[in-house]
Amino acid sequence: TLDSHPIETAIRRRKTRPVKVGNITIGGGYPVVVQSMINEDTMDVEGSVAAIRRLHEIGCEIVRVTVPSLSHAKTLGDIKQRLIDTYQDVPLVADVHHNGMKIALEVAKHVDKVRINPGLYVFEKPKADGGEYTQAEFDQIGDKIRATLEPLVVSLREQGKAMRIGVNHGSLAERMLFTYGDTPEGMVESALEFIKICESLDFRNIVISLKASRVPVMIAAYRLMVRRMDQLGMDYPLHLGVTEAGDGEYGRIKSTAGIGTLLADGIGDTIRVSLTEAPEKEIPVCYSILQALGLRKTMVEYVACPSCGRTLFNLEEVLHRVREATQHLTGLDIAVMGCIVNGPGEMADADYGYVGKQPGYISLYRGREEIKKVPESQGVEELIDLIKADGRWIDP
Ligand code: SF4
Repeated sequence: TLDSHPIETAIRRRKTRPVKVGNITIGGGYPVVVQSMINEDTMDVEGSVAAIRRLHEIGCEIVRVTVPSLSHAKTLGDIKQRLIDTYQDVPLVADVHHNGMKIALEVAKHVDKVRINPGLYVFEKPKADGGEYTQAEFDQIGDKIRATLEPLVVSLREQGKAMRIGVNHGSLAERMLFTYGDTPEGMVESALEFIKICESLDFRNIVISLKASRVPVMIAAYRLMVRRMDQLGMDYPLHLGVTEAGDGEYGRIKSTAGIGTLLADGIGDTIRVSLTEAPEKEIPVCYSILQALGLRKTMVEYVACPSCGRTLFNLEEVLHRVREATQHLTGLDIAVMGCIVNGPGEMADADYGYVGKQPGYISLYRGREEIKKVPESQGVEELIDLIKADGRWIDP
């Protein structure tokens, strides 16, 4: 029966190997890491340092930058040093958009992780007739990729740094497209080809991503990757994201649908929400997804009823006031419920409750226990006093 087999509500995360990126660890049972990317030109040292710092201060644990040229790669050395001198050693990832190894090798000296896109390692001319690749042709190109990638893998291995193999649905290499089509399978095989090269060079500080702008494609790709890795005995952590999610409400919902679905399955060790907005806007979305799933608790959890004909006060306004007064009290769960008919039962074991009692009066709860009835006009102040009396208040 259900009673003798209680249903597990906590998410069981897939076991992955720990991959160190500076002073942060991705995978290995560590909390899901939040990351984002600055928009500044990497040649602008002061601007980049300020942007990295702004993101890091609001909870972005790993910051990504782009390196379109060798001079950008060299400049990253100055950025890293300036961060250490004026702030702290923030874990940095460089996005290398070329298959040219010069840039990657230079940047590997300055950052903690290098992201490469297998789709850019293209050595073949497009097949004009759309014909298939023979196994020999396929393998020959694989050998060229290996030869190109090897110095970077060796450099990262020797420095104890990490690599992200970041496959994008929109930029699969030609021969993967011909062989597997524009499919999750093509994405997964593309990642596996690169993983195998790394493993043959005894390098395993790898994180994998398989991003797509269509949520069902992205979800299918990550699920297939996990299945294939399980078959092959691989335990690499996964970086989750929905690319080109857009902006506003729909961008957030789209990211949450993709990232949240996988996290709920226990898949995912680091996340990035990509919004067409300032990167600072991405961080609270990441933390909200993680908190909603019970994976990380970094904010007060508010439980509030939707209000209905029984509601005894202006719920939206009171919730706003309670939030303003208490949002710095990380770790607490606070419920605001419109009436006592369903309120106390539905407070979901909140630490404190603010519940409509009768017109003009509310009741304050500690857990399931009703503590006192107070006039609604004093409700928020009395709630604060109760939290203070319990020794759980800290000044904002
Ligand atoms: Fe309505 Fe009361 Fe339920 Fe809120 S708690 S939705 S006011 S019945």
